[in-house]
Amino acid sequence: MAELEGLEFGKSDFVLLDEVTMEQFMENLKLRFDKGRIYTYIGEVVVSVNPYRQMDIYGKETIEAYRGRELYENPPHLFAVSDAAYKAMKRRAKDTCIVISGESGAGKTEASKYIMQYIAAITNPSQRAEVESVKNVLLKSNCVLEAFGNAKTNRNDNSSRFGKYMDINFNFNGDPTGGHINNYLLEKSRVVQQQDGERNFHSFYQICWKNLPLFKIRLLFQTSNNDRSSHKAVMNALEVIGFSKEEINSIYQILASILHLGNVQFESDGESVQIRGLDAVNLISDLTGTDKEIVSKSLLYRTVATGGGEVIEKGHTEHEACFGRDAFAKALYERLFGWIVGRINAVIEVKDYNPVLHGKNTVIGVLDIYGFEIFDNNSFEQFCINYCNEKLQQLFIELILQQEQAEYQREGITWQHINYFNNQIIVDLVEQSHKGIISILDEACLTVGKVTDTVCLDSMDTKLAQHPHYTSRKLSPSDKSMEFKKHFRIRHYAGDVTYSVEGFLDKNKDPLFQDFKRLMYNSANPVLKEMWPDGQLSITEVTKRPLTAATLFKNSIVALVDKLACKEPYYVRCIKPNEVKSPVLFDEARCRHQVAYLGLLENVMVRRAGFAYRQHYTRFLQRYKMTCEYTWPNHLMESDKEAVEIIITQHGFQDDVAYGQTKLFVRTPRTLFTLEQERTALI
Ligand code: ADP
Ligand code: MG
Repeated sequence: MAELEGLEFGKSDFVLLDEVTMEQFMENLKLRFDKGRIYTYIGEVVVSVNPYRQMDIYGKETIEAYRGRELYENPPHLFAVSDAAYKAMKRRAKDTCIVISGESGAGKTEASKYIMQYIAAITNPSQRAEVESVKNVLLKSNCVLEAFGNAKTNRNDNSSRFGKYMDINFNFNGDPTGGHINNYLLEKSRVVQQQDGERNFHSFYQICWKNLPLFKIRLLFQTSNNDRSSHKAVMNALEVIGFSKEEINSIYQILASILHLGNVQFESDGESVQIRGLDAVNLISDLTGTDKEIVSKSLLYRTVATGGGEVIEKGHTEHEACFGRDAFAKALYERLFGWIVGRINAVIEVKDYNPVLHGKNTVIGVLDIYGFEIFDNNSFEQFCINYCNEKLQQLFIELILQQEQAEYQREGITWQHINYFNNQIIVDLVEQSHKGIISILDEACLTVGKVTDTVCLDSMDTKLAQHPHYTSRKLSPSDKSMEFKKHFRIRHYAGDVTYSVEGFLDKNKDPLFQDFKRLMYNSANPVLKEMWPDGQLSITEVTKRPLTAATLFKNSIVALVDKLACKEPYYVRCIKPNEVKSPVLFDEARCRHQVAYLGLLENVMVRRAGFAYRQHYTRFLQRYKMTCEYTWPNHLMESDKEAVEIIITQHGFQDDVAYGQTKLFVRTPRTLFTLEQERTALI
């Protein structure tokens, strides 16, 4: 059995703190970080601090040490919760999920990759070829998704710009048989615009190493050798997953077309708008297998249906033409990304599964989704991301805090009620129908005529003025951060965020002229055609009121939460130790803030109020009856509960436990650890 860590490394579970105070919590977190112990538990929750250096703790030996073990048998590690989730799935046929949260750069994506590597390593001992191939695709899909969905930002050189939820399916043997990836809100605005010091998606730089007509592209000066090696890895991954040569070619042709679209410039003589030089248009037409004339036309005109059912062509203003071009570039990339995910899903989808023949199909879900964001300028994207985090926090509260307290009540254990902030009120502020911010936005988007961002803001200010978590600019005219009068503020559970309403309506409506859709649908390239099925609609058939971006996002997050809520959850809470990617700097204030808003202290309190471990009497007895002469091989008590009491008393652990109706509650891991050691010595 692996040694538990000595006390010089601090407490391996925050539940063991002498007193649950912020000071003690932070002291322990810092001590462990300084000693290179990046993982610490709160019960079954893993708190992880990004080490910003390679750690020698993910190799084969470590995997073996954690394989099949109980949480308290080894020092805290991602592998231990992965194993717990896996065991729950395999032994108890429970669907489980591992929810990884934390802000950008806190280490979520790395954690999700280690979890998948662990699961891949411990499954399929008999090396069956079908299972190996599923595992391979699951692992390789990360590489592809990162190339197309990640970018260098000022916070993280490899920042995921989309949310990812991956289900892994298992057969009755506990071997992976397939999976499914859901992606959430790709930050497509990055395709046409990046902040200073940031880059476009990695894929655009990797493409430089392809033999495509890419001369005169301004975008690409930041490409590096790193991109070259990544490109090779991506090409290999695409092939392994099963993308055909034609499909891979098409992917890169689409990327190149997007880059050339960025070179399309317009000029206006006051009356009509023209494209300046046709080089870019010609290249786009070649790359996308479309007609040159129609490409130009789609960039300069839009088809509209008049009230009388007539169809006419209307020329763009210069501004409209630029807007249309950018919307087109963004949509091309978004559809490409969605198509790639769909293609991977088609490969890993569980086929021919017969529950009667094969037993119950169980699932482990891994969620790696953007953390809470507060930037200098917060726009629609931050609004959506932060709403998503409110929803996940709400789920955490429901699952961990409420369920925990409910269990004590059910089992008749005395405990002290812990007050924690329930953020449902903020979730409602955003998503409530008719009254919430998304509804108000949608209403503004659907109103015919010139509704501007500011008009919409007025409406929000009026309707939400009384809400305790909303600050209207009218109420705080002297507030500096709202001086531009185009801002509103939400008091999120994680802190106050001031949003600039500029561009909200456009991003929410997310319009794309039907002409572009038709252009793509009529492409000679079957891959492109497949991505644009809605291009076959004529202008008169197009639904007038498609769902808005915020509503689509809300629906997808609600569906995600429903999916998670019916699984047994495991949590990884990631903390970013500093802003400068340093392996030695523990920025006390930054960490304290994260600990506070992640609700970790409340989590410890509830957990302690609190017993770290619990087990049904029968199960406990089965496992430990050999450690006591009165219970081995069988006991003569009236009930299993009494038999368990005998074991506990004989070991002198009576002060560390409480007896519930059906379960034994144990305060500290030490108790179980000792029992576990005795058991191992006896068998
Ligand atoms: P997030 O997904 O939360 O935005 P990432 O997982 O991309 O953050 O981590 C950001 C960077 O931090 C990684 O690129 C890596 O350099 C470093 N990092 C994160 N976790 C670890 C780890 N466990 N070991 C070593 N480095 C890590
Ligand atoms: Mg990430």
